[in-house]
Amino acid sequence: MSLELINLWYIVAAALFIFGLKQLGSPATAVRGNLLSSVGMFIAVVVTLFSREIIEFQWIAASAAVGAVIGAFAAQRIAMTSMPEMVALFNGSGGVASLLVGWAALYTGTVAPQEIAGVAVEVPMAGVSTFTVVTILLSILIGGITFSGSLIAWGKLSEIMTSRAIVFGAQRLVNALILIALVVCGVMFTLEPSLSSPYLYAVIGLALVFGVMAVIPIGGADMPVVISLLNSYSGLAACAAGFAINNNILIVAGSLVGAAGIILTNIMCKAMNRSLANVLFSGFGAVKTATKVEGEVKPINTEDAFLILEAASSVTFVPGYGMAVAQAQHVVRELGELLEDNGADVTYAIHPVAGRMPGHMNVLLAEANVPYDQLVEMEEINPRIDNIDVAVVIGANDVVNPAAREDENSPIYGMPIINVDSARTVFVLKRSMASGFSGVDNPLFFGENTRMLFGDAKESISSVIAEFKG
Ligand code: NDP
Repeated sequence: MSLELINLWYIVAAALFIFGLKQLGSPATAVRGNLLSSVGMFIAVVVTLFSREIIEFQWIAASAAVGAVIGAFAAQRIAMTSMPEMVALFNGSGGVASLLVGWAALYTGTVAPQEIAGVAVEVPMAGVSTFTVVTILLSILIGGITFSGSLIAWGKLSEIMTSRAIVFGAQRLVNALILIALVVCGVMFTLEPSLSSPYLYAVIGLALVFGVMAVIPIGGADMPVVISLLNSYSGLAACAAGFAINNNILIVAGSLVGAAGIILTNIMCKAMNRSLANVLFSGFGAVKTATKVEGEVKPINTEDAFLILEAASSVTFVPGYGMAVAQAQHVVRELGELLEDNGADVTYAIHPVAGRMPGHMNVLLAEANVPYDQLVEMEEINPRIDNIDVAVVIGANDVVNPAAREDENSPIYGMPIINVDSARTVFVLKRSMASGFSGVDNPLFFGENTRMLFGDAKESISSVIAEFKG
């Protein structure tokens, strides 16, 4: 295959990646977007294989078959709530692949060991530019960090290890020493690159250790942000590997993953009003203490909730992490349909960080077949929320906490929220007065227009549905 033809196919693949990514922006087109990107990747792999003068295909075919079976089986079996764990493993695989590609690239630049005075001596790489050596080093370094960091993120999310932040005395000092050692070994290796260089193996070892050290002090609830960041790293590692082996599509694909990952990380941090440094180096409430909230709580039972909902002409559901815990999405959709049949205008207001991963609520509601056009984003619902008769908060807490707007001492001050307290009536469905992920009290529960419907969200909504039907 001529170089022009290869690059032409690579441009087709890159265009499919970009259109695919664009379509992932909306739930309505996401499935097609995923398919387009997969076709792009298939083209990229096939063209690469046929352009590399490969003599034997059997190992490649066997590995591809094993990988495809494992991937298809895992994707079929995985529960929606375990998606972040799966992404962590994917990122880790991407990282280790870049590490191996970078390492293997060294072989092409090293001549076979020669015997000098009876001792095998490896001749340093001749004719390999410093630029290539640096890209090899970067793919090994970033790939290694991504691999071990992702495994720790996976372990925390799947609770194979403690999901709590693991901190110890001289942690920052130890991390700084590892970083310094990494830089020193990296420079020494670049000065005299060789497959037998001890600095190469020191860089691999230190990168793996650093990945572990960077992720252990971060609490489980912040893992989605870390996973998105590691996703970005896996892209950067692939991009560096692309330079190391001079493969254009790997450079493009790696850059796309790197950029998409960092954009998503940024969106999540902004939606929480936290800096990336705050997520990586400290937890919620580390500095500030919110003003204590006191007042009278007004509980409501399902019969009264039904009577108010029956009279409502506009209802918005505001789902949060508790809806995922209760797996209440199907009954919520059923109640939504009953309200619509009753003449109410029904919407679902989605906060960007409701739940524990980006798009968590969209995924759950889509699984329950809630129509996309009923989903409204925070910026869209807030300006018209004071015209909503009833806002039904289902297991959401932080994302509807007015303290984020009003209490400067609150750790979540400045985080954009859905202003449910401005609706005419607010129902809050949760099991107790417990706080949410951020651990801060919620003045919404004491609001004049708030009614607390205590209990498991699925059971409470099922009871309201029974009232509607009965
Ligand atoms: P929260 O974690 O603030 O609150 C969830 C609430 O659900 C709890 O107060 C809990 O109260 C209630 N709950 C739990 N189980 C049930 C149940 N079975 N039935 C009814 N209620 C239940 O959730 P939000 O979605 O409001 O906020 C998400 C938080 O996660 C934010 O602070 C966000 O910053 C953070 N986060 C989100 C990420 C993302 O990508 N989405 C990433 C990282 C962090 P009770 O125990 O009383 O029932």
